[in-house]
Amino acid sequence: DLDHIQENVPYRELAPFAEAIHSDRVLRENNEKMRQEFTANVSHELKTPLTSISGYAELIETGMAKPEDVAEFGSKIHREASRMIRLVNDILQLSHLDSVRPEGEAVTMETVDLLELARDCVERQKVNARHAYVALSYLGESAPVLGSRTLLEELYQNLCDNAIRYNRPGGKVQLAVGCTRDGHAYLTVRDNGIGIPKDAQSSVFERFYRVDKSRSKATGGTGLGLAIVKNIARIHNARIKLESEVGVGTTITVTFELAH
Ligand code: ADP
Repeated sequence: DLDHIQENVPYRELAPFAEAIHSDRVLRENNEKMRQEFTANVSHELKTPLTSISGYAELIETGMAKPEDVAEFGSKIHREASRMIRLVNDILQLSHLDSVRPEGEAVTMETVDLLELARDCVERQKVNARHAYVALSYLGESAPVLGSRTLLEELYQNLCDNAIRYNRPGGKVQLAVGCTRDGHAYLTVRDNGIGIPKDAQSSVFERFYRVDKSRSKATGGTGLGLAIVKNIARIHNARIKLESEVGVGTTITVTFELAH
């Protein structure tokens, strides 16, 4: 109770406590603001596909849709519903990740080789034929880190998906892995796609932020991929660096402590 102590203790000694209480309050207020913003964003993101699902379903139900349009409306409903499922999955995943502390026991940490993950990620994309119009490759040396295999796979997957989706026909995506002399392991995902404007670069890791909303949605984006990447990096005490130039491409580097 700050008021009570203040009567007996010189201010000089109280200052650090007052500062801590103040910053705690600021933190709580900021959290509350972010939570409200997030809820508003989620509602908006869900409302858009729901409105269109409801609209097309009504056209079919009331017989207003011409017989030749029914199949197309059906597939629009399907596409919007799939988007909602992805969105809800990403939201659930983010809320799960939010609760994970780096030193906690919520995730199983093991020694994982980033090079192996890069290879698996490239293989998986090839099986899914997602790389159809870009050349996907990986290179580097073995780089063991202490981490969650599933979460690191997801981190790679999200970075790779973006490098492919924000690319152009004939583009390249390259995954590189290595170790530094000062005991770090790094992975980079480099593309020579459309790039990110300078003024947007600090925002792309925010939830629901998109440079180009229509491109994000047309390629199945939820606006949460990089927020998930950021959260997974946090859980691994890893650092993210973004380098990008419009029309030239984007490189994202994630740096970890090397496992011994
Ligand atoms: P989304 O689902 O929209 O892709 P993300 O959180 O993964 O959401 O990315 C946020 C935004 O950052 C994207 O909408 C896109 O504008 C931009 N972005 C992400 N990765 C890249 C990239 N490799 N090249 C260009 N722009 C990118």
